[in-house]
Amino acid sequence: MADCIFCKIIAGEIPSKQVYQDELVTAFHDINPVAPVHVLIVPNEHIPSVAEVEAQHEAILGHMFTVARQIAEQLGVAQSGFRLVVNTGRDGGQDVFHLHMHLLGGKRLGRLG
Ligand code: 5GP
Ligand code: ZN
Repeated sequence: MADCIFCKIIAGEIPSKQVYQDELVTAFHDINPVAPVHVLIVPNEHIPSVAEVEAQHEAILGHMFTVARQIAEQLGVAQSGFRLVVNTGRDGGQDVFHLHMHLLGGKRLGRLG
């Protein structure tokens, strides 16, 4: 996707503090962290949001959870706990329309809502 900021980060055209990349997913630190650990895990394929997810994406989506667990261990929050968030659409507070999973941790997070 030409105008997608996360597609450009995945391609290395925009710099990021990358923590992980393989053939299916890329992970990098959020530019505006709201917790001591705030990493975004994104599919390399441009899927705009969960509203466009299809059965063919299930391998990628499942892999995002495995990578989340690996990154949580790598960044030292696997034992203390963390939160995975996928904002979707306007009411879900999604700003970037390339599907992404927030991995948040390193402090006691408040309740949602
Ligand atoms: P959303 O609100 O769509 O769920 O989250 C988008 C997230 O992307 C926000 O937390 C925002 O700080 C982050 N973000 C936006 N632009 C960039 C960028 O250019 N680089 C990085 N690393 N994060 C970004
Ligand atoms: Zn994209």
